[in-house]
Amino acid sequence: MNKINPLGVHWLVLTKTWDSDGARHAIREAKRIGYDFIETPPTPVGDEVTEVTRQLLAETGMGAAVCLGLSADQDLTSPDPEIRARGEAFLMGAVDTCARIGGSLVSGITYSAFQKYMLPCPADGRTASIAAIARVARHAKSLGITIGLEVVNRYETNLLNTAEQALAFCNETGMENVKIHLDSYHMNIEETDIQQAILKAGDRIGFFHIGDSNRGYLGAGNIDFNPFIRALFQAGYTGPISFESFSSTMIDQPLLGILGIWRDTWEDGKDLAEHSFTFMEALVKSGREAHRRALGRVA
Ligand code: MN
Repeated sequence: MNKINPLGVHWLVLTKTWDSDGARHAIREAKRIGYDFIETPPTPVGDEVTEVTRQLLAETGMGAAVCLGLSADQDLTSPDPEIRARGEAFLMGAVDTCARIGGSLVSGITYSAFQKYMLPCPADGRTASIAAIARVARHAKSLGITIGLEVVNRYETNLLNTAEQALAFCNETGMENVKIHLDSYHMNIEETDIQQAILKAGDRIGFFHIGDSNRGYLGAGNIDFNPFIRALFQAGYTGPISFESFSSTMIDQPLLGILGIWRDTWEDGKDLAEHSFTFMEALVKSGREAHRRALGRVA
């Protein structure tokens, strides 16, 4: 993904299951629409689907980002060392998968479980997570891979809900290939000031998810995307931007329950993916123009 601001799409927009047929369909569709990369799940190295993914990506010239959320029995903030070890091993495996398929980024809720917590994250849980992420990042670095920490809303983690929290966490890992992954859907819930949050995160931003307030069609929710995209360009962001959306048409448990998707936000993933690509292309172009003119490079 050498292009400036490559555009991507989450696999769950295009296929319900990431088996060989699903992967083949989703990668070909994403390519046909014009996307530069696709977000894939961390299928194990050695599995047939991982090989199909690798071949298809190579064939189509598409990039990949491996996206994931740790489960409760993989929680890096858990007081139980066995649970933390399981999480770390899972992340190491995801890094290997990413390298195998030719991807460049492993991101999502990589630092805690992906769930609603009933208590705040204890200080030693945060410390343990930072140490584990640093070790995973060292392994990732040897393979040229970046680790993303997705900042999500309060119902999906108790650790990183704001860009500022993610920045502190990133710095404490001491690893340059640990980056902040921001998402408009979550920022819309948690951040006080979108522009300030993005500018503060600055060059530590490594991934950006675009999603509307109801996680359906872009522009059919309540988010004004212009402040996000303008701040990203102001921060000098040249990294990947990806569309994420969830509908009960496409997802099953446990994801359905964790995300609280109780109704269809869309029925036709093909139409949604085509629309999102057009929307994102226009948004990026508007943002670039606004930024260029604000800098006074154009009269
Ligand atoms: Mn996201």
